[in-house]
Amino acid sequence: MNIINKAKDFGFAQAIKYLEKDPEANIPKLLGLVDRFIPKDEFKAQREAIWSVVESKDNWYQLIMRFYELDPGIRTTFFHNFIMNANFFGWTDQDKNREKYNCNIPWTILLDPTSACNLNCTGCWAAEYGHKLNLSYEDIDSIIEQGKDLGIYFYIYTGGEPLVRKADLIKLCEKHSDCIFLCFTNGTLIDKEFCDNMLRVKNFVPAISLEGFEKANDSRRGAGTYSKVMNSMGLLKEKNLPFGVSVCYTKDNWDDVSSEEFYDKIIDMGALFVWFFHYMPVGKGAVPELMVTPEQRTELYERIKAFRKTKSIFAMDFQNDAQYVGGCIAGGRRYLHINAAGDVDPCVFIHYSNANIHDTTLLDALRSPIFMEYHNRQPFNDNMLRPCPMLENPEILPDMVKKAGAKSTNPEAPESAEELCTRTTKYAKNWTPVAEQLWQDYINCKNCSSHSAE
Ligand code: SF4
Repeated sequence: MNIINKAKDFGFAQAIKYLEKDPEANIPKLLGLVDRFIPKDEFKAQREAIWSVVESKDNWYQLIMRFYELDPGIRTTFFHNFIMNANFFGWTDQDKNREKYNCNIPWTILLDPTSACNLNCTGCWAAEYGHKLNLSYEDIDSIIEQGKDLGIYFYIYTGGEPLVRKADLIKLCEKHSDCIFLCFTNGTLIDKEFCDNMLRVKNFVPAISLEGFEKANDSRRGAGTYSKVMNSMGLLKEKNLPFGVSVCYTKDNWDDVSSEEFYDKIIDMGALFVWFFHYMPVGKGAVPELMVTPEQRTELYERIKAFRKTKSIFAMDFQNDAQYVGGCIAGGRRYLHINAAGDVDPCVFIHYSNANIHDTTLLDALRSPIFMEYHNRQPFNDNMLRPCPMLENPEILPDMVKKAGAKSTNPEAPESAEELCTRTTKYAKNWTPVAEQLWQDYINCKNCSSHSAE
């Protein structure tokens, strides 16, 4: 870290210490200081937004206060590793490296430590990928070392069930104490000992999968899973540990998981964020009928937007919120996926690759043909409600895979991109007119002066 960054890091640490003493009183004081010493035009919109949250004491303010109920060491580490390292410093380094290497450099890397899972959920491709593959501790360590050289300080585990490897994951948290780790997990392997380890390392945050209330959840994930998950959430809350919820919405559970009752339940359990994922018909065992209809997707979009204004939880929809990130983030634009066999995929849902981390560097994988196809063609659509080259633009992915000469990375039952996209063609056709109307409404609303501050 150079001397200027060291000074910024020190200043940030002091500000965090000051807030820790009395957040309610000191947040406005600190904002006042920022206004006095930073030119008015810098980060104007962001500063106004923060002031509005603090003055109105709205749901976002309540969310900030919920943060102050967490273990103080964890909170400080989160601010340092996520806000400073992964975003403030990391982003600048990623930008420099994008220019230097003329390829995408991600903000985060998604890894499958293992393909093994203790559950067998309907429609999950992981179940059909076999249970024998693992990235070793050394493999993951090397990916993180290479990532940090490129400015990446945020790592996300998925799988398989990552917590099958919990001892290694905790060791990696210890070794890379300057990074932040998020883990998609079914939550059933979280116990007291693991919570104590989380408290010790301070940089591990679970995102626990839920499919709705007990009936919907257990019908997809297996009997008894819901009550185990509630138990895990209870433990995390008791220890003041941060966690979120991850939801895959389908035509069967969309109504439950976007209901006020569901939001209130997960907030009450202690979740700080909820991450929604559209069911993707990936793999030969996929069930395309599980995809939501255009009407259901629209209703989800409206409900999530509305609850953002009232509920004290950070909610994000991976498919409907592309407008906030400029479209598809895969192919290393903001993230990539490395499976348990080491194949470097553009996205957790797109299993085609030219590179394996056992034979190539992370940087060379980012410069491999399928990643350059993403780099050169993003965004795939100007309509941010149609971001995906597979789901909403199914003519694009087969073309990219063909041009790149990328191979299917499904080890059990490889499928061509054409075959995959036949499952989304009808969906895309039905969604297009609805998405066009919604997008037009959004643009009109944004341009309307009475909504210009939104
Ligand atoms: S490839 Fe599709 S699912 Fe993956 S990040 Fe891009 S838009 Fe999202």
